[in-house]
Amino acid sequence: MKPATEDQSRPGESRALLQLRSLLDLAQLLQRFTEEQELLSFIAATVCDQIGFGLCTIAMLDPDGIFRPRVLHDRAATHSSTELDEYELPQERFAQIQGQSERLGNILWLDGRTELAQKFVELGFIVPTSPSVSSSEWHPSSVLFSPLHAPNGEVIGLLCPDDPLDGKLPSADRAILLETFALLGSAALELLRARANATAQLRILEAQRQQIAQLFAASTSLKRESQLDDMLATIVQTMAVAGGFKRVALYLSDDARDTLLVRATYGLSAEEDRRLRETPVPLTTFAPLMQPAMRLSRSYLYDHRKFQIPDELAATMSVPDEDGDWVDGQWHALDSLNIPLIGREEELLGVISIDEPTSGTFPDLSHIEALEFFADQCAEAVLQVQQYRRLTLIAETDALTGLPNRRALTATLRSTMRECRDRRSSISALFVDLDHFKDINDSHGHLQGDQVLIQIVNMLRSELRRSDYLARFGGEEFVVLLPDTDELGAQEVAENLRKVISTTPIALNHDLTLSITASIGVATMNLGTTSLRGSTQRFAENLLRMSDEAMYRAKHSGRNTVVLAQ
Ligand code: GH3
Ligand code: MG
Ligand code: MG
Repeated sequence: MKPATEDQSRPGESRALLQLRSLLDLAQLLQRFTEEQELLSFIAATVCDQIGFGLCTIAMLDPDGIFRPRVLHDRAATHSSTELDEYELPQERFAQIQGQSERLGNILWLDGRTELAQKFVELGFIVPTSPSVSSSEWHPSSVLFSPLHAPNGEVIGLLCPDDPLDGKLPSADRAILLETFALLGSAALELLRARANATAQLRILEAQRQQIAQLFAASTSLKRESQLDDMLATIVQTMAVAGGFKRVALYLSDDARDTLLVRATYGLSAEEDRRLRETPVPLTTFAPLMQPAMRLSRSYLYDHRKFQIPDELAATMSVPDEDGDWVDGQWHALDSLNIPLIGREEELLGVISIDEPTSGTFPDLSHIEALEFFADQCAEAVLQVQQYRRLTLIAETDALTGLPNRRALTATLRSTMRECRDRRSSISALFVDLDHFKDINDSHGHLQGDQVLIQIVNMLRSELRRSDYLARFGGEEFVVLLPDTDELGAQEVAENLRKVISTTPIALNHDLTLSITASIGVATMNLGTTSLRGSTQRFAENLLRMSDEAMYRAKHSGRNTVVLAQ
């Protein structure tokens, strides 16, 4: 006895049973598709081949409420899918068709001779074909609509077979077959979409889990800007890889919150990355990408079909090359998803701009929500570094005068010394100590003494150059760093300061004024000849000590004078 193979009919099976079996096979086959476009092409081809039509188009409902053709199967290959590029059927027009057409079960039949069909031909919603068989029954403008449904019953697509090979309306059993195909197609489509979203979701969830652990470890020690850069780069990469996007750019707001600057990118060439980082984008220029009408969850989905990018914005962005094979309803090179980074006071800390989904389709709401999780992590990291920056600033600023304090001076002196060494130039330090300041406090009180200090600082500030650095060393002692300045130059600056302090009357309360003097010690190091090897700290300490000693000698030689270090 020969074993029966799958496709052999078994004795005793009726024709109806065979048909049922081929439908089951078809249902199974449909479930295997992973690409939506391929699935739709297969359905259109199967409808033509198995039910006997010359042509079949499938239009899908886009998020903007318009059915747009996605595939066209043409047995005779006389029509091409580009013919349908312009063709759009708005949802409300389809509702009209639903209301006025005849029904064959769940299939809608709009006779080409009816007024509605003619009106729709004029409006461009029906494209007349040239049937291969002339028939009194089938008119070039006749259309069959077999709706594709979502599980909730909403029509998400239209299966439109055309040009019946016998020139007739489908008989009852062929109509049922068509309806069955549409039903199986809808189910397969739903499965495919759910599977694609679930895969993306899973990938994101897993990446989120890993990121949480990493971020938690990193965020407690997030202090320096370079650490922030590393973290932003990681987040951007994870968003792209796990989220299924080819390109991501992360912008941060500047301190004034009116400009965005790229801080991390993924998927861009080094050249593009460099260009973006060097191009600050004013917030007003970026704003068209974040209009309320584009909002989805907390993000903004820019759909180029609905909105126009102003040229000045396009010039600052990196737009991928346009894909010649773009299909309406799929992601286009000009589209983008922009996720804002929001701070605790609802302030805009930055924006993550995402582009080119690997799936080619628009991300759905849950996908976007998952991506927003990463944006929250970025916002948190940025806030932490900003907080650290603020604390550092407080720790390094003198509260009374707003000048850098001794701690800041020490750090700046070392870095300035390194810079001067690299330029092979000199550095000078002035140690300024006010004379008999205690007497001012004793005669006028400490509050007045404070006011004197503030006025002296304003005086010093206005006499110094931008490149000079003024710090409050302590009490009534100030240090001035003069980079690229030799002894002679430093002596001139010191002498000028001494003169200005001693000749400018200081205003006190009740129209009183007083005059004050200062003793200034000057020390210079020529870093062009000194080999500044080893610790700059030691050299920095030396320079300060030398200027301090010179200042003491100025005190001893009668005050209100400038003395150079030996
Ligand atoms: P000398 O000419 O020798 O420098 O005399 P001096 O009085 O300036 O020096 P001394 O070091 O004896 O005293 C410094 C005074 O500066 C002591 C302190 O009361 C005063 N002082 C330090 N910091 C402040 C401040 O922030 N506000 C006020 N009002 N006074 C201060
Ligand atoms: Mg003193
Ligand atoms: Mg003093």
